[in-house]
Amino acid sequence: MPFSRFGLYSSILRAVQAKGYAEPTPVQVETIPAVLTGRDVIASAQTGTGKTAAFALPIINRLGPHRAGGARVLVLEPTRELAQQVADAFREFAQFTDLHVDLIQGGVGYGKQRSALVDGADIVVATVGRLLELIDDHAVKLDQLQVLVLDEVDRMLDMGFIDDVKAIVGRCPHKRQTLFFSATIPGTIEEVARFAVRDPIRISIGRVRTVPASVKHEMYPVSAALKFPLLLALLEKTEYRSVIVFTRTKEGADGIVARIKRAGHSATVLHGDRSSGQRKASLAGFKDGYYEILVATDIAARGLDLSEVSHVINYDIPMTPDDYVHRVGRTGRAAASGDAFTLYTPRETGAVQGIERFIRAEVPKRKLESFDYNAAPPRPEPEEGGVLTTAPRAQAQPKRPSDDGWHETTVGAGKKKKRPVAAAAPAQPNSPPRPKQKPKQKQTQKKEPNRGFLAPKKGKSFAHRKGGQHR
Ligand code: AMP
Repeated sequence: MPFSRFGLYSSILRAVQAKGYAEPTPVQVETIPAVLTGRDVIASAQTGTGKTAAFALPIINRLGPHRAGGARVLVLEPTRELAQQVADAFREFAQFTDLHVDLIQGGVGYGKQRSALVDGADIVVATVGRLLELIDDHAVKLDQLQVLVLDEVDRMLDMGFIDDVKAIVGRCPHKRQTLFFSATIPGTIEEVARFAVRDPIRISIGRVRTVPASVKHEMYPVSAALKFPLLLALLEKTEYRSVIVFTRTKEGADGIVARIKRAGHSATVLHGDRSSGQRKASLAGFKDGYYEILVATDIAARGLDLSEVSHVINYDIPMTPDDYVHRVGRTGRAAASGDAFTLYTPRETGAVQGIERFIRAEVPKRKLESFDYNAAPPRPEPEEGGVLTTAPRAQAQPKRPSDDGWHETTVGAGKKKKRPVAAAAPAQPNSPPRPKQKPKQKQTQKKEPNRGFLAPKKGKSFAHRKGGQHR
């Protein structure tokens, strides 16, 4: 079925064409006509299904031309990255119209954000906390609102935002269209839905239970004490182009990224405690290929459209089977192949079985050849100042100030990897010149090149082999 069957304006169809969408996805087939009726909608659909276009296209269609006087559409998102992504999508879909789109998100200076708000934005995409502050400050008015979108409500609930969401809903005009999206709609979410929507059309796209065929996934049993050495061994033995390492907690992510860097890999971290500038820089650096490894928590990585990821490694087993499918689906996108490895300890065998039941498939269990499963656990590592700790502290890294407040340092960025097969690791012929090194730290274990994050990382030191195997 072509997009033209929805009866959307030609300016919108042009944008759809510019995006290269040939056919609507199932969630779009059901949601676009429902939104066009003007009725409320409750849809259970996950990210990655084309959900953003499913609500953005009919909303833009309903708005018609630009009108000053206050936002007519408000889209609430659980994270800054999603807010940015959805605002970008609205801008792209509205590029052949005169509609204005504003993004409101925490993590950027309040005053700057307040004054940057364009009076007369038709569509506002926002994270919850910052929007409430601006509403309280009378910087955002919602009296002209026609459409409210509550996106990823399950995540908002997980993140403890539901009361704020309800407060915002309470400040919207009673007469409006509300579109409510959540991956699943259990009782607690249904309660929020009842608060926000009236006489809705219900759409259920169903939980995504399958891992894309383009992804080869494997599980690696290991004792808790040898998890990190196994992660390093996997990174060493695998030809990857870009890897996301998932951890369950923010602290875990900080610890792992510090240890990975210390082992000589170029890595960055994404989690909810990092500032907006830091998160943006991490993502941009990862997308550009400057960082090979992104260590992330589920919430931060949820819904991110990262199409070039060759490998996903679940350092911690995901909390839910849905998260497993979501994490694994970060690779093998855009018809490329990818690999997903999951490390699990004997205590997590039940969770592994839960995942297998959910995806209705057994995931092969593997042992990494040449890895010593009987080795002694790694010794605590000396920190700056000679203090011994088992979990390295992220702040032990030297800091590089920058304009946006981002101050990560990459240890070993661009460093040629130790690769057993020389043919797969061609030398880098045109390495960019390295900027000056920082003064040495008291107890640094290795030299730490401190390349600016924007420095291009040309000519990777190794080639990505499709479906990258262990060597
Ligand atoms: P979303 O679920 O909105 O995050 O979308 C996931 C990815 O699917 C994004 O890269 C979209 O650009 C892409 N996408 C959305 N709709 C379509 C479509 N009809 N055809 C091809 N790609 C699409």
